[in-house]
Amino acid sequence: MVFRQGGGYGERSREMHKATCSECKKECEVPFKPSGDRPIYCKECFSKRRNKNSNKW
Ligand SMILES: [Zn+2]
Repeated sequence: MVFRQGGGYGERSREMHKATCSECKKECEVPFKPSGDRPIYCKECFSKRRNKNSNKW
């Protein structure tokens, strides 16, 4: 018997946590638990920063 079921994909793939972006103060969700110790960046700011200093990687 082949177990095949459609749907339900990605429903609980990742736990998202509500956070506030340290850069633009926008509410965003991050796939990790914000510790409050380090700054949180939304997708936009994160990619912006990554582009900014992409010497190594
Ligand atoms: Zn931001």
